[in-house]
Amino acid sequence: MKIQHLSLRNFRNAEESEIGFSPGVNVICGANAAGKTNILEAIFYFAAGKSFRNCKDRELIKFGCEKGQIGIKFATQNVEYDMSAILNKSGRRIIKLGNSVPLKMTEYIGRFRAVIFTPDHLSLVKGSPENRRRFLDLAICQSFPRYAPTLNEYNRVLAQKNALLKRGNVIDELLQVYNERLASLAAVITVNRRKYVLKLEEEAKKFLLDMSGSKENLTLNYQSQAGLFESQDELKEKYLQLFNEKAGYEKERYLAFYGAHKDDFAVCINKKSARMYGSQGQQRSIVLALKLAEGELSAKLTGEYPVFLLDDILSELDKDRKEYILSRIIDRQVIITGCESEVFESEGKIFVREGKISY
Ligand code: ATP
Ligand code: MG
Repeated sequence: MKIQHLSLRNFRNAEESEIGFSPGVNVICGANAAGKTNILEAIFYFAAGKSFRNCKDRELIKFGCEKGQIGIKFATQNVEYDMSAILNKSGRRIIKLGNSVPLKMTEYIGRFRAVIFTPDHLSLVKGSPENRRRFLDLAICQSFPRYAPTLNEYNRVLAQKNALLKRGNVIDELLQVYNERLASLAAVITVNRRKYVLKLEEEAKKFLLDMSGSKENLTLNYQSQAGLFESQDELKEKYLQLFNEKAGYEKERYLAFYGAHKDDFAVCINKKSARMYGSQGQQRSIVLALKLAEGELSAKLTGEYPVFLLDDILSELDKDRKEYILSRIIDRQVIITGCESEVFESEGKIFVREGKISY
């Protein structure tokens, strides 16, 4: 999968920009605050249907404007696509393929796929479980688009349950309705995430062994409050049982404490928690291994490598890790921000200044 062109209209600090990409390594150069990350953010928007910076659509629209617009042209092995997104201040956005009618999430997710690397990703190892869940969910949605509506529905029902708990004076019949719905959705989510983590572990393990001279054995252990399970049906029953047992606890605290929104995976090197015992360098290597593994899995599951987006990570890495990552992705399409272009050969060089592009 290769991105050929990106156009921006009133997106972040870009008023009107047209950017062409070459099929190999592309470097985006520019001073701090020039608009480099904004370009990757626009590209990744089509992979995730939202910003990777975890912000609202309205923050993406250029200050003082009512609307923003982004468009990409990209090609898979067989077909070329044109996708566009119109972002409105009101929060309503429209995503289209060519001149199609506006698409639903299931219709566009997974068409354009990308893996993004950012310095923030150290939080995958060091941060709260939410970081790891977000990583898994984004990766799974791109390879299995049908996962996205399940996740949305789960979050919708969870919000309803929380609203009910918050109100106090809970109607038990209604709580039971929410819990039953949540149990079936949570089972689908947890099963999918656990399956993905097993595959991810297999790929990431190889990368980490490679980077550490065969010294570090990575394991990922999926953890759900419902415990171990053999099948989705069994898991659903376990979730429901848990919700029923904890109903009193949740009512007293006015909040849903149990469910797939509390899942996590433990990251260990040689059986020891990487969060607690890993050195900074080991943690960085794990994150690289996880992200490279995400790219590998995306290729295995869909038949094509995604586009690799590297935001500012090369300046963060030591020489060995820098060389390692570049050696693993150099024959794919890569878009790198930062100005250390001298460390590798690039086909395309793009300069940004105050949101404006030059070559
Ligand atoms: P660095 O090298 O520091 O990472 P960068 O080139 O990646 O910098 P970006 O994050 O892409 O910089 O762009 C930041 C610029 O975009 C800032 O000057 C910021 O004020 C501006 N900006 C962010 N959101 C908006 C917006 N909605 N409208 C206009 N400008 C914005
Ligand atoms: Mg940046």
